[in-house]
Amino acid sequence: MPTKKIRCVTCGRIFYEGQGVRITAGGKELHFHSKACALKFFKTMILYLDNKDLEKAVSATLQEFENRFKELEEKSKKRIEAL
Ligand SMILES: [Zn+2]
Repeated sequence: MPTKKIRCVTCGRIFYEGQGVRITAGGKELHFHSKACALKFFKTMILYLDNKDLEKAVSATLQEFENRFKELEEKSKKRIEAL
């Protein structure tokens, strides 16, 4: 099966399917050859977002990661209690 060539949307570098980072957002499939290019793209994209929407999105995302910390802390507490 021939491997599909893909162009990084941030820097234009050509790479092969299965490599790099693929993210679906805003109804589009975005391909990046590296995490650094993905980060650069999203940092630039933030500039074009409505400030109110951005505030909501940042708060919701912070909350989600905070919940993950809490879950991990709970799990490690239970593990210590089980010892
Ligand atoms: Zn790139």
